[in-house]
Amino acid sequence: MGEVLVYVDHVDGAVRKPTLELLTLARRIGEPVAVHLGAGADTAAPVLAEHGATRVLAADASEFADYLVVPKVDALEQAVTSVNPVAVLVPSSAEGKEIAARLAVRIGSGIITDAIDLEAGTEGPVATQSVFAAAFTTKSHITKGTPVITVKPNSATPEAAPAAGTVEQFAVTFSEGATGTKVVARTPRESTGRPELTEAAMVVSGGRGVGAAENFNIIEALADSLGAAVGASRAAVDAGWYPHSNQVGQTGKQVSPQLYIASGISGAIQHRAGMQTSKTIVAINKDAEAPIFDLVDYGVVGDLFEVVPQLTEEIKVR
Ligand code: FAD
Repeated sequence: MGEVLVYVDHVDGAVRKPTLELLTLARRIGEPVAVHLGAGADTAAPVLAEHGATRVLAADASEFADYLVVPKVDALEQAVTSVNPVAVLVPSSAEGKEIAARLAVRIGSGIITDAIDLEAGTEGPVATQSVFAAAFTTKSHITKGTPVITVKPNSATPEAAPAAGTVEQFAVTFSEGATGTKVVARTPRESTGRPELTEAAMVVSGGRGVGAAENFNIIEALADSLGAAVGASRAAVDAGWYPHSNQVGQTGKQVSPQLYIASGISGAIQHRAGMQTSKTIVAINKDAEAPIFDLVDYGVVGDLFEVVPQLTEEIKVR
């Protein structure tokens, strides 16, 4: 088996969960080699090793923090040249997809974005995608160059598989364009204390049925009882009840959690496009004919103002 490069998404060496998921999937197609760019490789290495990284290729330079994605593409391109991997895996974040797309162009390879599963195939890694607003599931493999694949968060459960995780420093030669765009300020969003929507293992969403901005507190209370993120349908966002950053769907965020609870959401195709790949779907809707019930694992026909608080109380006592 060849080596698989896994791009490490981290904050100063604190490895984010989607990277651990990638390491787990990478083991199906080869030996995972983590690429850690920026500060904190020594902090990250034990976690990466615990999840199967045989090696950690680490490069640190101010360019990674000060400039946009191009320095990272430079580093990955050089890592691909030196390792000649069977694939490069990158998390499907906004940054990850830009890095992956630029990398694929640089190395003349095909790219698959937003994969939800990965397996070994006779002609290279086979990626599963959910396409056309989740109406179809496709399996595909890349026919040209080193496959570059971005994988949606929550596509796999991170599994420990201790490996050496030897840290190997490498020096990156930056391209001319690497310093063309500088980061002038970073303004962290005020933290709600809830997990990031696209990475959360559980999401509780509210729709038009919630009726008002202030009523979202019952959705938030259920989310907090579970440690879940809060999502919203476009109808709720357009009404100004919840921020657009929390919108789930075709023109919002795509989520694929273990558990998705939709409250007061009818299940329009554009909403389904953002949540249909969730592992377990629960809907609470007072209309038994609502289309959301066509795709749920568990459905409650009832008034969300009665059902959701009861559910929250029940979860709290457990
Ligand atoms: P509705 O369809 O109005 O459904 C509300 C539901 O709440 C109903 O089923 C009702 O029975 C139920 N309900 C009402 N009161 C209660 C109660 N007390 N208890 C329980 N249930 C109750 N939508 C998205 O969500 N995300 C997107 O990204 C998105 N992108 C779009 C892109 C385009 C180009 C277009 C054209 C549309 C897009 N939409 C998107 C909009 C989408 O078509 C729907 O209009 C939207 O999803 C409806 O939101 P909703 O289910 O909250 O509202």
